[in-house]
Amino acid sequence: MSKLVVMKFGGTSVEDATAINRTAGIVQGRRDKGLTPIVVVSAMAKVTDQLLSAASAAGRGDRMGALAITARLRNRHLETACALVAQAVGDCSLSKMIDAEFDSLDEILRGLASIGELTPRISDMIVSVGERLSSRIIAEAFSHRGLDAVHVDARKCIVTDGQHGKAIPQDAAIELRLKEHVLPFAEAGRVCVMGGFIGATEKGVTTTLGRGGSDFTAALVGGGVDAGAIEIWTDVNGIMTTDPRVCPTALRVKSISFEEAAELAYFGAKVLHPATILPAVKKNIPVLVLNSRNPENEGTRITSLAPYCRSPFKSIAAKRRLTIIDVVASRMLMSHGYLKAIFEVFDKHKCPVDMVSTSEVSVSLTVDSNEKLPEIAADLRQLADVKYEGRKALICMVGGNIRGQNGIAAQVFQAIRHVNVRMISQGASEINMSFMIDEDDADEAIRSLHDVFFADPDPEIFDVEALKESSLKS
Ligand code: ASP
Ligand code: MG
Repeated sequence: MSKLVVMKFGGTSVEDATAINRTAGIVQGRRDKGLTPIVVVSAMAKVTDQLLSAASAAGRGDRMGALAITARLRNRHLETACALVAQAVGDCSLSKMIDAEFDSLDEILRGLASIGELTPRISDMIVSVGERLSSRIIAEAFSHRGLDAVHVDARKCIVTDGQHGKAIPQDAAIELRLKEHVLPFAEAGRVCVMGGFIGATEKGVTTTLGRGGSDFTAALVGGGVDAGAIEIWTDVNGIMTTDPRVCPTALRVKSISFEEAAELAYFGAKVLHPATILPAVKKNIPVLVLNSRNPENEGTRITSLAPYCRSPFKSIAAKRRLTIIDVVASRMLMSHGYLKAIFEVFDKHKCPVDMVSTSEVSVSLTVDSNEKLPEIAADLRQLADVKYEGRKALICMVGGNIRGQNGIAAQVFQAIRHVNVRMISQGASEINMSFMIDEDDADEAIRSLHDVFFADPDPEIFDVEALKESSLKS
């Protein structure tokens, strides 16, 4: 197996000097095991958001507002960088680079403020500063700590098309570029450090892969160099059987399939967005979700096929603040084009629909509660009778093993027999069972379901040790 391991650190794992030093220790740990890390980093926590607000302030003509944001960002980067290399801000070796980046950023913002129009191309240019800086600071900090690190400009490797803000990576070109700019260093045993999220077109125009895009970069790099594993370092212990704040007996899921993780992502995309790790899954490279604040923890392993698990479900997720819309039209009975007309209304308002259930004359749909609802309802009323009701929660139970098992639905609804269920759906993937209830019932329902389905957890798949330890302590 390849000794190459792609290690991606998110914003909170590089938010300040303490976090970056911790990150260096984790990378060193992998080297000590004989592996060769390729490190992909996000911008320091919140920096992307702040750069985007600076860009939009300048785009509105608010020059002062934009420059005030970058002044704070400049200080934060200077202070972090200089703390990492143990120098005073005045004579810190990195400060020239940081000042030069912010000088040119400020120039762009001033120009933008006088033109008053923010284009996607300029937005990408501005927002890329976050990862450009974090990756250079981190490479330097690693070297300062004795790790043989080298900075690689991600824009030389991640070739994309020209769709700014959500550029599409060009796999074949990326593979070639990685061979040229990354592999020679890695083969020499050096640690490459590159920014996530950013790329460039063939012509060298800076682009970005979309919010949260650093995971995507990690998968592209891992796929491109045929890494042995991809590690996504974040600030949670991986994927859990349910939200531990709701249910204190929640367990860490040690192993989950890509397909299952994808179903869950929609509910708590906090951990990672599985679509972004597709390049790794296609090549059968395992992806691990790990906690940089608790690096000893084994996290969650996401693989293309699920290992055998004797429990039907892997995890229970909930999505709250939903609204259910009932569309009832007796006169539409047996006519065609009815669903199309309904969906056209949602399309017109650019409103995503989560779940749908239909009978011959009625359709129920759920959407995120939003301010467009009265307008959507008004348009739907041209077609049928419409009622809508907010404060709903969608409970989603995911597990590859429910496929073809009898009696699971009966167990689910027995567990929540005291709760009023408004909609039920089992998707075509057959690995997810979802239903809609009142938001106020959600916590109780999750606890009851968790009690039933995780009473005797499979120790191969769930971290039962943690539970034993905590019950000994209490
Ligand atoms: N910094 C980018 C963002 O906040 C990309 C990432 O962190 O994944 O969206
Ligand atoms: Mg992220």
